[in-house]
Amino acid sequence: MRKKIVAANWKMNMTQAESARFVESLVLDIGDITDVEVVIVPPFTAIAKVMEALGTSQSIKVGAQNMHWEPNGPFTGEISAALLRDLLVRYVVLGHSERRTLFRETDEIVNRKVRAAHEATLRPIVCVGETLEQRDKGNVGKILSIQLRGSLKDLNEKELQETVIAYEPVWAIGTGRNATPQQAQEAHAFIRRTLREMSDEATADRIRIQYGGSMKPENARDLMTQPDIDGALVGGASLDPRSFAQIVKAARDEK
Ligand code: PEP
Repeated sequence: MRKKIVAANWKMNMTQAESARFVESLVLDIGDITDVEVVIVPPFTAIAKVMEALGTSQSIKVGAQNMHWEPNGPFTGEISAALLRDLLVRYVVLGHSERRTLFRETDEIVNRKVRAAHEATLRPIVCVGETLEQRDKGNVGKILSIQLRGSLKDLNEKELQETVIAYEPVWAIGTGRNATPQQAQEAHAFIRRTLREMSDEATADRIRIQYGGSMKPENARDLMTQPDIDGALVGGASLDPRSFAQIVKAARDEK
């Protein structure tokens, strides 16, 4: 049985004061939920504030939105896994489509980061997904296979099990147009089959695959009832603590 994982990707939003207010509200609402893993992914500048606001509340974890693959050195403007671990960060989102497109991150770069994250005992959330053009040409499987095999290259079974995959169709991110539950399940099942080919059945069955792309309280339940959808990576709807809490509750209801 895979424990669902729901993460809030705040992107380049939320001041320290806003972050603290969000966390206080979220803890009151869902602080007692332990059967869903909840991860807040703030901008780097708010990580320490989110940690402080979480206090002794153990049920909500913190992630980062990116990192460099080197542990330290002359990389002005970059953050390493070691620096994130120093802040007690547990997860890191890697290969988000915004990074792949706007910052030219290739599967090879994502793979370097994924391996560096594991070395530092940070758990990567690795994003994959096709553009609308690729979908229209019937290339969804081909694209997902290339991204998975490239981004997860040379991971052992333990590392694969500790990796979370986020299926994020690019055409659904921030557009208000989510994949239908059937489209998402089809892609998730394909991802799990590919993971099986890359490792073995037991390993692939343990890997959690999140859906991301215009998830909202209104569509969360239908998406997360699908057998291979193990949670969500939420962008826009994660900026409001009530909407995000409703999505977490939808994940719990579907167990
Ligand atoms: C995302 O960027 O990871 C995302 C899923 O965004 P949104 O929920 O806004 O589509």
